[in-house]
Amino acid sequence: MKIFTHIVLPFAFLFLPLTGTPALFASSGEQGHSVHWGYEGEYGPDHWGDIKSEYSRCKGGQQQSPVGIALTEKAELDKINVHYYNTPLRIINNGHTIQINYAKGSTITIGNNNYELLQFHFHSPSEHKLNGSTYDMELHLVHKGEDGKLAVVGILMQEGKTNDFIKTLWNNLPAEAGKERSVAEVKINASQILPQNMAYYTYSGSLTVPPCNEIVTWYVLKTPIEVSKAQIEKFTSLIKKSARPIKPLYGRVVRESN
Ligand SMILES: [Zn+2]
Repeated sequence: MKIFTHIVLPFAFLFLPLTGTPALFASSGEQGHSVHWGYEGEYGPDHWGDIKSEYSRCKGGQQQSPVGIALTEKAELDKINVHYYNTPLRIINNGHTIQINYAKGSTITIGNNNYELLQFHFHSPSEHKLNGSTYDMELHLVHKGEDGKLAVVGILMQEGKTNDFIKTLWNNLPAEAGKERSVAEVKINASQILPQNMAYYTYSGSLTVPPCNEIVTWYVLKTPIEVSKAQIEKFTSLIKKSARPIKPLYGRVVRESN
């Protein structure tokens, strides 16, 4: 399960923030030794590929994410069909992000491919850039296909109205980092955070955190959603910078649905 650091279930890894240091300490039971990575300084994105051999793609990979989306190719692409069910809220501050783990059974279908929703989480500022612009935050809905590959739906978030869905999440944040909070009486449905228009940009890329595996088909929605200034600040007060800089396309084409 090492390759799924970005999406692992909470019992697989325990992230413990070390106050006063830019990097974070992650202890892996499988490996029996500690691994550091963060967003600044000596453990920041420029150094991820040198931290350990399993992270080498972060440095050498040519299908890395995020990217700047500007030049695109319009195409007749399959719609994203969403089948999300209500799930009891399970939320964790894992030191790198706030993540909500989803119960089994919620899926998206794109053409003939089915992908199960595993979790969603946030970055601030946005990781993808759109026509040169960085947004305040970005939401990633992480889905896994039958072949083990991932389909991640990225939604850009800009400052605006209070977002009721985010309000529910932020009202139930765990007091302690590193521990999942299970709130059985609060049911959420991730379909409530989706914009009405699900048109998207798509390209082949990677996890945006170590080990940067190139197993992700990205679907970045063209329509951003709104979130209030206070809601953005709530996130950034807990999770400081959490965005990897954009990576070169190396000849990859970004396609755009209608
Ligand atoms: Zn992400």
